[in-house]
Amino acid sequence: MIYLDYAADTPVDAQVLDLFCQISQDAFGNANGAHRLGRKAKQLIDNATINIKNQLSCLNMEIIYTSGATEANNLAIKGVARNYRENGRHLISTCLEHASVSGSLKYLQSIGYEIDLVSIKKDGTVDLDHLRELIREDTILVSINYVDSELGVCQPIKSIASLIAAYPNCFFHVDATQALGKIPVCFEQIDLVTFSPHKFFGLNGMGVLQKNDNLILEPQIHGGTSTSYYRSGTPFTAGTAATALALELCLDQLEERLTQVALKSDWLKKQLSNYPLVSFNSTEHSVAHILNLSIKGVKAQAFQAALSDQEVCVSTKSACSTDNTPSRSVLTVTGSRELARSSWRISLCHLTTDRELQEFMEVFDYCYKSLTKK
Ligand code: PMP
Repeated sequence: MIYLDYAADTPVDAQVLDLFCQISQDAFGNANGAHRLGRKAKQLIDNATINIKNQLSCLNMEIIYTSGATEANNLAIKGVARNYRENGRHLISTCLEHASVSGSLKYLQSIGYEIDLVSIKKDGTVDLDHLRELIREDTILVSINYVDSELGVCQPIKSIASLIAAYPNCFFHVDATQALGKIPVCFEQIDLVTFSPHKFFGLNGMGVLQKNDNLILEPQIHGGTSTSYYRSGTPFTAGTAATALALELCLDQLEERLTQVALKSDWLKKQLSNYPLVSFNSTEHSVAHILNLSIKGVKAQAFQAALSDQEVCVSTKSACSTDNTPSRSVLTVTGSRELARSSWRISLCHLTTDRELQEFMEVFDYCYKSLTKK
């Protein structure tokens, strides 16, 4: 099997899994328990939290643990919207967001909030002039991802943050799920950051919302003890420690891994460009580990199924949308419904070997020839 879907999920690192198992057995006490095992668990969570804050240089932020980035995005967006509704009911986002962001916004729209989507330029980045036109005194939140999961476009987060900073009632939320652990990131001037460790060799079923200390959210889950007022439920001690370790391991080797992935990605693009019906949808601003392409005239699902029959795993759209509709992100960036219908994604990581890529190209060649012959 050749796995080229690392933007959807990654295998858990052995050290992370070992730590998870060890803590699950040795420190299983409820961290809110006023006994020895409870205190041990609480200490582990506190250590993990400090570790994460140090690594992300965000000592003045609160870390809230959730079940995934989906829940973290819901909490960030609905939490701000509900708590700051007296300041305004206007929110801004893009059409490149994950379903958990667009879904939260759609829900807010259904209960009377006003949502505007900022234009995306041909290179996949946010049109800052349009954002400047859209933002108003009653805008309470701008939510824009660092890197989108389909095209892998890295947004000019610093410039967006500076623009928003002139509006004191407006918070900035960044979904960093596809960026953290893959590229160097800077979270300065960002009020809310969300991410998920299963994208960087941590565990599935965990998510993190990092929020500015002086920002208040309306909780989305009520009742029960927790590590945070904002998210009820028995603290997940082993999960938090595993998240901190996964982050540490991948940030330690970030530059090295990024260089490796960039070399592999360049090689792959060169090989794929030899096929006349291949069109790249990822842009010059896309990260190295995500490559979105279309084979003109071949529906994405047909090409994916042909690759899957040959034991190659790639994604159409993001793994979180299962329908067969054209990709909204690809349509926005390319302006072509045909490309949007035939787009699919290869995603790499440092574990991808040259041999796997060579084998992938052989399979690709076979599928291309069989699906494009008239
Ligand atoms: N945001 C982005 C950009 C994603 O790619 C994903 C996962 N595909 C999510 C949020 C949701 O993450 P989780 O699976 O942890 O809920």
